[in-house]
Amino acid sequence: MTTGAAIRLDHVAFSYGEAAMNFDAAIEASAITAVMGPSGSGKSTLLNLIAGFETPQAGRILISGMDVTRLEPAARPVSMVFQENNLFAHLSVEQNVGLGRSPALRLAAEDREAVAGALDRTGLAGKEKRLPRELSGGERQRVALARVLVRDRPVLLLDEPFAALGPALRDDMLDLVQGVHEERKMTVVLVTHRPEDARRVAQRMIFLDNGTVAASGETEFFFEPDGPAAFRRYIGTEQKVALPPEIARKTT
Ligand code: ADP
Ligand code: MG
Repeated sequence: MTTGAAIRLDHVAFSYGEAAMNFDAAIEASAITAVMGPSGSGKSTLLNLIAGFETPQAGRILISGMDVTRLEPAARPVSMVFQENNLFAHLSVEQNVGLGRSPALRLAAEDREAVAGALDRTGLAGKEKRLPRELSGGERQRVALARVLVRDRPVLLLDEPFAALGPALRDDMLDLVQGVHEERKMTVVLVTHRPEDARRVAQRMIFLDNGTVAASGETEFFFEPDGPAAFRRYIGTEQKVALPPEIARKTT
């Protein structure tokens, strides 16, 4: 049983050559925070900085008050799920999940129990011996989630993990994330380009624009008529979603 950790990005500067980004943000412990923003605004970079796959050029990253800025990814209390390619193609479902307990797959009885429990929780019981190519896209993302569950880290980063799935399946997966969050209360940071996903599961939102945090706060606030203007413009112009009439009026 995990609980979440607060995350603080303290004037974190990072650039890939020309694309300069500067993130200053506080992410609440044990909440689900949705990260939205136009393509190229820095959503994946933000998650990669928290996970340690990128290192800031200036500023600090704190998790639970601890400075992790120079820590290797494996030393951080963080797991991450990507849009795809989370699995090793030559390893079975249970081996892929087992990696969450032991990178050398030396699993004790309690590790095997944890793997079986996570496969059960994610609806994969009976598929233990399959290879990733013998699974659907949704099942593969369930395996990635099962691995996160056996790692049991306080912070879970999800970078558009269900974007490649159809609508019904995507909602199922969001429900699964929400259910697991309800049980474990880890801190979840979910990148999504769908406002309805954010509304469905996230208590808080961060809206990125051009490499900075343009707005942050409670999810409901973003969808109010006097919510952040940059976000309203974004969903008004770039997203073809059915909005409640009072919001649609304000965004046009
Ligand atoms: P998002 O996830 O919001 O679409 P990214 O974080 O992937 O945005 O990208 C932020 C900026 O950094 C963009 O300008 C993008 O082109 C650039 N960028 C991302 N990854 C790389 C990379 N590996 N090399 C060079 N530039 C990159
Ligand atoms: Mg991205």
